[in-house]
Amino acid sequence: MSSDCLGGVEARYCEAGADGSVTCTLCPHRCRLTEGRRGLCRSREVRDGRLVSLAYGRVCALHVDPVEKKPLLHFHPGEMCLSLAAAGCNLSCRNCQNWSISQVRPEEVESSFIVPGMLPELARRTSCRIVAYTYTEPLTWMEYTVDCARTCREAGLLNILVSAGYVNEGPLDDLLPYLDAANIDLKSFSEDIYRKVSRASLAPVLRTLEKMRDAGVWLEITNLLIPGINDEPGMLREMCRWLVDNGFAGAPLHFSRFFPQYRMREVPPTPIGTLRMAEEIARECGIRYVHLGNV
Ligand code: SF4
Repeated sequence: MSSDCLGGVEARYCEAGADGSVTCTLCPHRCRLTEGRRGLCRSREVRDGRLVSLAYGRVCALHVDPVEKKPLLHFHPGEMCLSLAAAGCNLSCRNCQNWSISQVRPEEVESSFIVPGMLPELARRTSCRIVAYTYTEPLTWMEYTVDCARTCREAGLLNILVSAGYVNEGPLDDLLPYLDAANIDLKSFSEDIYRKVSRASLAPVLRTLEKMRDAGVWLEITNLLIPGINDEPGMLREMCRWLVDNGFAGAPLHFSRFFPQYRMREVPPTPIGTLRMAEEIARECGIRYVHLGNV
């Protein structure tokens, strides 16, 4: 690792253009950046012709949480996780819960520099056997996530990812060998809703789920139900059928209750009846474990 880590480390996922630009190949946005410009995730910038990950090691949130809070209800219940985040997210969800650390630049939030090699000792001191990459979007600080997960695996710890799963295949392949479990936020089953609410798309998220399934990562899936946005019964049925047809019937599905926040303050909280309706649809489709969250 560079001694200049606070100024960022060179990104691993990029392509140089003939015109002097650099394209970030980490996520499907594929931001094409000229000198001094930053990607949509606010944490990757071109400096001196090189793409730099500015979030590497700049930990802006560090807590000890129960594994159930991720939420993962079927993976080492009762264990505590050393949970960490750096700033940045490649989605722009209007309902973001953690916007104060995810929708900002790394230098705009207070952070401590933590090299990957420090994590096993931190985990030991806090009696955690699990390390969770969470709160923001760990896939936007992929270089750090991969280095931490490798170091923690070598130290005998377990790694959990909490993510929206919006990433390209190559970078994901670098992380999968070190991942033990993940909770992936499946925001809807509509390209249109993904685009309008999160400035992202559905297909790459489904591919991430399939790759995690194939890699043997323990998967739980969260679907936040937003009234009038993604709670249409036909779409929920389509989503559940896709999950069952593609080998996810045994992956616990968490329907989570929405509360007004960030840029979606005009939308009311999810009625409990909507959550019950979604639960019923999921069970009818053959999802074996259905949980309701935020209730
Ligand atoms: S990770 Fe960031 S910089 Fe890279 S393509 Fe995605 S949004 Fe753009």
